[in-house]
Amino acid sequence: MIGLKPMKVWLVVGTQPLYGPEIFAEVQSHSDEIAATLTAAGLAAEVVSRPICTSAEDAAATCAAADADPECGGVILWMHTFSPSKMWIRGLSRLRTPMLHLHTQFHRALPWDAIDMDYMNLHQSAHGDREAGFLHTRLRMGRKVVSGHWSDAGVQARIDAWMRAARAWHDWQGGVVVRFGDNMRQVGVTDGDRVGAEIAFGFTIDTYGVGDLAARMAEVPDRDVDALAEAYSESYDLAPALRPGGDRRDALLDAARQELGMSAFLRDRGAMALSHTFEDLHGLNQLPGLAPQRLMAEGYGFAGEGDWRTAALVRALKVMGHGLTGATSFMEDYTYDLTEGQEAVLGAHMLEVCPSIARDRPRMEVHPLGIGGKSDPVRLVFDARRGAALNASLVDLGGRFRLVVNEVEAIDHPDLPNLPVARTVWRCAPDFATATAAWIHAGGAHHTAFSHDVTTEMLDDFATIAGIEMCRIGAGTELDRFRQDLRVNEVYWHIAKGYAS
Ligand code: MN
Repeated sequence: MIGLKPMKVWLVVGTQPLYGPEIFAEVQSHSDEIAATLTAAGLAAEVVSRPICTSAEDAAATCAAADADPECGGVILWMHTFSPSKMWIRGLSRLRTPMLHLHTQFHRALPWDAIDMDYMNLHQSAHGDREAGFLHTRLRMGRKVVSGHWSDAGVQARIDAWMRAARAWHDWQGGVVVRFGDNMRQVGVTDGDRVGAEIAFGFTIDTYGVGDLAARMAEVPDRDVDALAEAYSESYDLAPALRPGGDRRDALLDAARQELGMSAFLRDRGAMALSHTFEDLHGLNQLPGLAPQRLMAEGYGFAGEGDWRTAALVRALKVMGHGLTGATSFMEDYTYDLTEGQEAVLGAHMLEVCPSIARDRPRMEVHPLGIGGKSDPVRLVFDARRGAALNASLVDLGGRFRLVVNEVEAIDHPDLPNLPVARTVWRCAPDFATATAAWIHAGGAHHTAFSHDVTTEMLDDFATIAGIEMCRIGAGTELDRFRQDLRVNEVYWHIAKGYAS
């Protein structure tokens, strides 16, 4: 994964001196053991046991330190003993680092024969965490609450999902989205408030003239282009015309130069995502298709037509899914099969679908493209893997953002011998009519981030961290209820910030 910043998660355990300082060492040892166990479990981030908090000063200093540490991407809070919540007001009211409240207890089973008041006082998160939760709610803190014994696989899986969301948020902070050219003319959903997005999400959106890219491409040495073109044949089945001596070899060399130029351009700026537009290709010979496909496979976010927001979202989902199968791509709902009872969506784009979702070894082909007015672009063509997946769309509603998620199942489909682009076919949950109508009511875009790795839970955690609305469309979704939720949410999100102060 390109450009992944190191990130740790802190375990911050609260207690108080009411039962004597002699319990502090034991509380600390429990914190240390839980952190070590979670780290050893191979979750998405290392868990660091911090010095326990026994006072308001400790709590404030720990929260401030978490915000100040560039490697701290999340804080797990747990109140081992009763830790009066007013002592947390100063710290938590300023905390900006994502927070998970772990509602657990050190020992799994009660020692029924031996239990005494010392045991009761030490192991009282049953009410200590309720006291903490009240304050978190009183402060209107967005957080995840995970309940259960800390050694349970299910508990650890929920923590892992949150860590993945926190890692994507951490990645966005200071991230750079590079746009070559502007938004596709007259398209609404791919545009939006860039200042609002930078305030809300922490990344920057930097637009460059495509001529800047052309200049960088021209600096790439021919030998590097030749070497990359050679390497392509190790990973893909090249169409005969693209092989050495083939009559379209020039197109492949040009595509390789685009990839090297783009890659260098992004690296020079520490970028995490990119977009381009077929309406602005001055100085380029072909619409870049292969380059975005391969850059996505390296971990860059990408979206077409100047869609900086989906590009950033694809990057976020790639970071969330890092270490899993890697199958995440830019996607577009392209065309439908409306055969009654087996309605399906064919997802694709003009060229740019990430080979991380490919079922088999991709083919490298060159075909004409009706738009853009340039020469035929090289692209990877493949069928995609099957199985559970989701589409996510981040839309700008004016003044706030909404994340729309649809759970889908990628399915088998007949051969597509005449379709010269990578594609995947899926069924929507709960059903085609409900899912597509709900998506349209929610204002979801035609561009999405598509992933086999990322779950609705991760995206829910991500939206919570970002402080934005998430609308889930999946099993159990009913259209009437969904529409009513949209209406109610519209009110809630407009006043939520006011309530929090
Ligand atoms: Mn598009």
